[in-house]
Amino acid sequence: INYNKVHFVASYGKASQIPPSTCPEVSFVGRSNVGKSSIMNKLFNRRSLVKVSSTPGKTANVNFFEADGVHFVDLPGYGFAQRSKAERDRWARLIGDFFDSERSFNLVVSLVDIRHDPSKLDLQMIDFLRENGFNFIVCLTKADKLSKSQQAKQAASIRKQIGVPADRLIVTSSESGLGIDKLKQAIVDFCLD
Ligand code: GDP
Repeated sequence: INYNKVHFVASYGKASQIPPSTCPEVSFVGRSNVGKSSIMNKLFNRRSLVKVSSTPGKTANVNFFEADGVHFVDLPGYGFAQRSKAERDRWARLIGDFFDSERSFNLVVSLVDIRHDPSKLDLQMIDFLRENGFNFIVCLTKADKLSKSQQAKQAASIRKQIGVPADRLIVTSSESGLGIDKLKQAIVDFCLD
């Protein structure tokens, strides 16, 4: 996949507005601030195509990007503490309707901060993906903030808590580029077969 060809496609506030899939799709989910924009920008080798650090309370949309015939879907982050009930309800409807719709769900990339135990919402998200048979991988983010030995310890602990096979877990850093090649390989494996 030639990531140099990446461009923004469109932004949607409702799942019903999203047109049917026309190509393989890779979707990114995770709690607000987990590093989702950063890892997508790293993948695309762009500094700020995907907005970094969404403003608290800002309306969260589903954003589509395309690179070389593959769609990359930036789903709104969850778990931002200061969100109102209305915003949380809106998120739940948007994500629920998105995953309910008839689409090319080639791969879902679920992001979890390597420094902390997965939150209740992280566990719910991963359980949802597993129970509904989605192809997914978990990327542990911000690994550069830990030493090599801490990374291994946290990765093993988180893997136990979320119950995914070792080959579905990638330790990543958007800062150092750690794990980005593995993520790219997973995208190729699930999108170009
Ligand atoms: P998002 O809300 O999930 O899109 O998260 P962002 O990509 O905006 O990142 C949230 C914050 O974490 C920003 O201050 C980033 O600079 C920082 N961040 C993201 N990824 C990394 C990483 O791999 N290493 C480090 N050290 N910081 C990161």
